[in-house]
Amino acid sequence: MALSVYLDGKWVSSREEALVPVFDHGLLYGDGIFEGIRAYNGLVFRLEDHIDRLYNSAKGISLEIPVSKKEMIDLVLESARRTGLDDCYIRLLVTRGVGDLGIDPRKCAKPSIYIIATGIALYPEDRYEKGLDVVVVSTRRVRPDMLNPMFKSLNYLNNILGKIEANRMGADEGIMLNAEGYVTECTADNIFAVKNGELYTPPVYHGILEGITRKVIMEIAREHDIPVHEQGMVVQSFLSADEVFLTGSGAELIPVVTIDGKPVNDGKPGQVFKQLREWFKERTKYDGIPFK
Ligand code: PMP
Repeated sequence: MALSVYLDGKWVSSREEALVPVFDHGLLYGDGIFEGIRAYNGLVFRLEDHIDRLYNSAKGISLEIPVSKKEMIDLVLESARRTGLDDCYIRLLVTRGVGDLGIDPRKCAKPSIYIIATGIALYPEDRYEKGLDVVVVSTRRVRPDMLNPMFKSLNYLNNILGKIEANRMGADEGIMLNAEGYVTECTADNIFAVKNGELYTPPVYHGILEGITRKVIMEIAREHDIPVHEQGMVVQSFLSADEVFLTGSGAELIPVVTIDGKPVNDGKPGQVFKQLREWFKERTKYDGIPFK
């Protein structure tokens, strides 16, 4: 498997060499932030959006990234180039850095940057054709006034607990509600409903990660005169929808065909989803920064 790893100043190309110091507060406390990025056809898709979100997450946790946005873009492009692949997945992390065993971030001399670029492990193709079975999990999404999901921090235990529940129920994914009972997102993807040819998705203030794929889908829909509504949604809004699908850099667009064992509409991926997926694929062919 083609692999390139940047370890805070050093490049390695094997998993055995790709090791982080055990005193890194990213490991000890989940103190850090990250991005999951895709490259298609020699272009890193929407890289500037990912870099902007990364720096915004950094601000949100009072972390000063030690390189400029331009330098970070160059590091990501170099990571992708070193894989020798045209299509790859890039995981970019900035941690608080190496400290001592206390949580105090002031003990960490400087943030560490880690980048993993490798081949893409796609969901099996039949999941895109047949769709996902999802369940509503009881783990509530962390409240925005406690740890804002808008900041993509390394603290994913809340999502992982939701995923464990979904796994236990034999489902592909778990829908997470916020403390008030509104749908937020799935454990690692944003969620959309289609009703009467219009798109609906939960708003950022309900406590979601503001996904870049979500943003691209909303842009594409509006360009094709499909109205998009960001509004509070309960589980019933999804159960009564014509179509439901998820978005994420890893998953791209993937249909949901059952919720808690009940079929969405006729239990098959819908036409609006299929059309949006085509338009999205087209977009990945040109909307990115070249690395070759
Ligand atoms: N929500 C969560 C919790 C995520 O971790 C992700 C990223 N995997 C998303 C939504 C989708 O965001 P993006 O489209 O930027 O990948």
